[in-house]
Amino acid sequence: MSIKKKARKTANPQRKKTQKKRQQILGDKIIVNFAKLSEASKRSYGIPSYYESYTYNCIACGKDFQFSASLQQQWYEEKKKYFWMRPNKCGVCYEESLQLKREIATFPKLLRTSLTIDELKEMLAKLEKFNLLSKNKFDSSLYNRIKKY
Ligand SMILES: [Zn+2]
Repeated sequence: MSIKKKARKTANPQRKKTQKKRQQILGDKIIVNFAKLSEASKRSYGIPSYYESYTYNCIACGKDFQFSASLQQQWYEEKKKYFWMRPNKCGVCYEESLQLKREIATFPKLLRTSLTIDELKEMLAKLEKFNLLSKNKFDSSLYNRIKKY
């Protein structure tokens, strides 16, 4: 390396930093191992050659999260999820919605017992929260049933 070049590099540390950042993003690419994909994924069109990290917006909390290349590889090659399935929630909201789903599953049984107004209100609040977390899987008939009590 010439002295001139070296001097320029140290003289501009900010530039060096941006270059490094760009390299990391470019470096965060993983080759898709087509053979490891699920059968349904293999039949679908347009499978890219690389997994590339990208940012998505959690439908529940509205924050931005990264779907990293390595997590994509795990989803599609290890867990054999369908290739075009994409996360729409962050980890925290996903866990919360799973927990609520389990609780809500016990509601029909609970409704056959005698419940206090507060217990019913709590159930409604949980259904409302679940609705926020997972837009389309909301059981509105259960909600209306509880509301009638
Ligand atoms: Zn979230």
